Amino acid sequence: MFTDIRNQLITELAEIAKAGTTKTESEITSAQGSHVTIEGKPFLNFCANNYLGLSNNPGIIAAVKISLDEHGYGLSSVRFICGTQDLHLKLEAKLTEFLHQEETILFPSCFDANGGIFEVLMKDQDAIISDELNHASIIDGIRLSKAQRFRYKNRDMADLEKQLIDSQSARRRLIVTDGVFSMDGYLAPLPAICDLAEKYNAMVMVDDSHAVGFMGATGAGTPEHFGVQDRIEIISGTLGKALGGASGGYISARKEIVDILRQKARPYLFSNSVPPAVVSGSLKALDLVKSGENLRETLRTNAKLFRHLMESEGFTLLPGEHPIVPVMFGSESDAVEYAKGLHSEGIHAVAFSYPVVPLGKARIRIQISAEHTEQDIMKCVAAFIKVRSCK
Ligand SMILES: *Cc1c(COP(=O)(O)O)cnc(C)c1O
Repeated sequence: MFTDIRNQLITELAEIAKAGTTKTESEITSAQGSHVTIEGKPFLNFCANNYLGLSNNPGIIAAVKISLDEHGYGLSSVRFICGTQDLHLKLEAKLTEFLHQEETILFPSCFDANGGIFEVLMKDQDAIISDELNHASIIDGIRLSKAQRFRYKNRDMADLEKQLIDSQSARRRLIVTDGVFSMDGYLAPLPAICDLAEKYNAMVMVDDSHAVGFMGATGAGTPEHFGVQDRIEIISGTLGKALGGASGGYISARKEIVDILRQKARPYLFSNSVPPAVVSGSLKALDLVKSGENLRETLRTNAKLFRHLMESEGFTLLPGEHPIVPVMFGSESDAVEYAKGLHSEGIHAVAFSYPVVPLGKARIRIQISAEHTEQDIMKCVAAFIKVRSCK
């Protein structure tokens, strides 16, 4: 009977949800920032992608308020019908200049940018060679294309070379990688990837969502950090992390690539324009990034301080320089217990366990922001120590 099937589904879903490891959302009643209010209580926030502390930046908010008065709230249209304002073109031009590319196309999100690009560019004669730990949106985007698929072990250049050899019959090949892998804070070895791409006549695409704004001397991300900007064919990224943290994503590449995406990329054609206020906020965020040496320096100093203090206290971290700092625990239950303990010490941080990370590699992922003060960081470290002493 119809209702039986419906109840069966509901019962099944309830069971799956109960067994799920993803934590239910905490309700934050303040603006985003290093200090937040969760269910009425103050917390230091160590799990936002708010690397430069721009999510509640007064300059951005002022720009957004003006934009609301001048450009309104919503556009009620996709870009190509009547959803393109001067602001959108300005933001695309600014991203192009910032990333040293030829042209940029804005998407409702980076998920959409990655979801739309592969189907358009890569056909069944072509091959996409993808790092196994690439973001879900890249994986989904590749699924939507008819291209042949090859996958290499995370940052493993020997395996990438093997895939390049195995895919040699393809007409054109595109290697795609996250610039930074979000669970580990590890950087993709872009120089080595570019070397292999050149050796085997392949192109390279980098999704720089966890780097744009703060990696590299001017904040242009991992290609700048590694000095390979002119060797990367395509860059995707988000406005939803360091660049103000609201929403929107983009692809920056050669003009012909962007032109064809404007005509064929489905999330661009069939999803609403980024709202004017968000575009204005992003424009202001890019201004702040442009003059953001101090913010980037503070972020680097903060991350270094946290890493140094934690390591001298004997905690196990994944090594690196990125403001994503995974604090590793042997067991899943330890990670969860620590996250709870931190919570009662007023520190908001999240435990990740299998299947989000490999079995036995449970961790608390601390994310440092330029907005954290030295005192905030000391408090976080002190909380880890206190939780350990109570165990
Ligand atoms: C966050 C992230 C995305 C998604 O960005 P949205 O703009 O939120 O859709 C895509 N790729 C990577 C690597 C990310 O870290």
